[in-house]
Amino acid sequence: MDNSALPSCPKCGCEYTYEEGNLYICPECSHEWSKFDEPQDEGGFMVKDAHGVILQDGDTITIIKDLKVKGSSSVVKVGTKIKNIRLVGGDHDIDCKIPGIGAMGLKSEFVKKV
Ligand SMILES: [Zn+2]
Repeated sequence: MDNSALPSCPKCGCEYTYEEGNLYICPECSHEWSKFDEPQDEGGFMVKDAHGVILQDGDTITIIKDLKVKGSSSVVKVGTKIKNIRLVGGDHDIDCKIPGIGAMGLKSEFVKKV
């Protein structure tokens, strides 16, 4: 049995979740959730940009505010263009790959759809 594919934390997107009994636990934010709560893939949540425009998987966005990258001295500058975003639930509701920085979770309130 292969248990290596645990789901990412729905709150912070952390990938290092672990199992305990019937729960998944996030080591980053201590969020716990049941294995029986299936993530909703469609219609479960709606992500809007800073201007209230609904975002979708695969959209291109730009950053509207300098954002510090957690755990480094890098900053994602205003106007940075990011292609092919992926929407996730939780606090940082956009998963994306930022040129020169790498994978990062963003808050939709700091982005604008292109
Ligand atoms: Zn978490």
